[in-house]
Amino acid sequence: MRKKNLLNHKFGRLLVIKAEPSDKNGNACWLCRCNCGNHVIVTGARLQHGITKSCGCLRRDVMQKRTHSNAILIKNSSKTDSFLNDDGVCYNSLKRSSRNKSGHIGVSYDQDSGKWFARLMFRNHYVLLKSFDTMDEAIQARMDAEKRFFPKKTRSH
Ligand SMILES: [Zn+2]
Repeated sequence: MRKKNLLNHKFGRLLVIKAEPSDKNGNACWLCRCNCGNHVIVTGARLQHGITKSCGCLRRDVMQKRTHSNAILIKNSSKTDSFLNDDGVCYNSLKRSSRNKSGHIGVSYDQDSGKWFARLMFRNHYVLLKSFDTMDEAIQARMDAEKRFFPKKTRSH
């Protein structure tokens, strides 16, 4: 199979700088330098079809731009286990994520924005979805929302 010469071609952030041996499927591989300085080996097909346009930093940049939107919170909630318990609380919202430093359910720290997020899901909707500068404010907001939407939790039998 003849290899198309992509040397010195630019694909997105990637500049092809060297031909690499083909991979085990016989796909032409190229060593590329990314704008950010990283080097990656990409197959010619991925470059030519625009599938790979950076070392991965492009996607990271896009994520960071969304920092201040609620996308972060929704992104952190995996859709696969979003089932509701008897209270209508999404289990997913009760689960402590690895990023949760507060130790409080529904309150988590977001490193990208440096903010504390309080959230509460009720009947598959976020009834609380706010960012705060301090953990205390976020916890307070979460507790207030719990009282409002799930009063029976706090009621004694
Ligand atoms: Zn890069």
